[in-house]
Amino acid sequence: MKIYLNGKLVPEKDAKVSVFDHGLLYGDGVFEGIRSYNGRVFMLEEHVERLFRSAKAIDLKIPLTREGVAKAVVRTCLANRVMNGYIRLIVTRGVGSLGLNPYNCAKPQVIVIAGTIQLYPKKLYDEGLSIVTVGTIRNHTESINPQIKSLNYLNNVLAKIEAINSGCLEAVMLNPQGFVAEATGDNIFVVRGNTLVTPPAWCGTLEGITRNVVMKLAAESGMTVREDVLTRYELYTADEVFLTGTAAEVIPVVTIDRRSIGIGKPGKATRKLAAAFHRFASSSGTPIK
Ligand code: PMP
Repeated sequence: MKIYLNGKLVPEKDAKVSVFDHGLLYGDGVFEGIRSYNGRVFMLEEHVERLFRSAKAIDLKIPLTREGVAKAVVRTCLANRVMNGYIRLIVTRGVGSLGLNPYNCAKPQVIVIAGTIQLYPKKLYDEGLSIVTVGTIRNHTESINPQIKSLNYLNNVLAKIEAINSGCLEAVMLNPQGFVAEATGDNIFVVRGNTLVTPPAWCGTLEGITRNVVMKLAAESGMTVREDVLTRYELYTADEVFLTGTAAEVIPVVTIDRRSIGIGKPGKATRKLAAAFHRFASSSGTPIK
C-alpha cells in the first residue's frame, strides 16, 4: 500500500510520523473519512470543504489549497487502485515540543490512506442494529464543537466502550441538555409517518455528508424533512430509526435500550432511502484517473 505523506506517495512501511507530532501527543489535528464507489470519489468537494472548516475552527492552516487536497486524495486512490474503498484524510498539527502550544509546531502533516473498511456485517443491514443510549454526554458545543472533525475522538471512544460493554455495537449520545446529538460515528434519524427528523448541528451533531445527502433524497422522494430537537421520547416512539455515515451508509436501528422501535424490523422508509442512497452514491463523484 502507498500512503500519501506531505506530497509524496511512500510505501506503507516508510509512512511514519514523529512521536513529537501534536496529532499524537494531543489529538491536535483534523480528519475526514471518504468513500470511493465505482472508480469515483463520493462527495469529495464537500469532504474537503468540511476539512478546511474543521481546520479553521482549530486555527490550523492546511499547507495545500482545496484543489491540492482533492488531488492528493484522487492520486492516492489511483496509486492503490482503490475504486471501491475508504479513504482517510488527515491533517495533524505537526512536530512540536512537549508543551501544548500549537503555534510552536513546525508544519502541519497531510496524510492520505486509501484502503477498505467494513463497519457492520451485512446481516445488520438486513435485520437492523441494536443500540443503547449511554452516560457519556457528547462534547459541549463550547468545549470541542462536534462539528469539528478533530483527531480527538475520546468522547466518542468512551461512548463506544459503554455500548460494547452493554452488548451493542453503537451508542446514542445525548448532549448536555439531554437532547439527542448523534451516534459515536454516525448521525441519527427518526421517521414518523411521512416525516424525517434529525437533530440540527447546534444540538452537538456533526453535519454529516451522508446525512445531508439522505435529507436531500428524502425531500426529493416527497417526504417532509426537518431538523429538530429530539429526546429519547421521540426515539422510543418513532416508526423507524436509522443511522447514516460515510462508512455505515444507511443502517436501520431496530432496538434502542432493548426497546423495540416501530415494528422491530427495518422499516419501509429506511429501506427506500438506503436504496436511493446506493443508487446516488454509485453514480456520482470525482473520477479516479
Ligand atoms: N458523527 C460522527 C461523530 C462521525 O464521526 C461521523 C463520520 N463517521 C458522522 C457523524 C457521519 O458523518 P459523514 O456522513 O460525513 O461520514
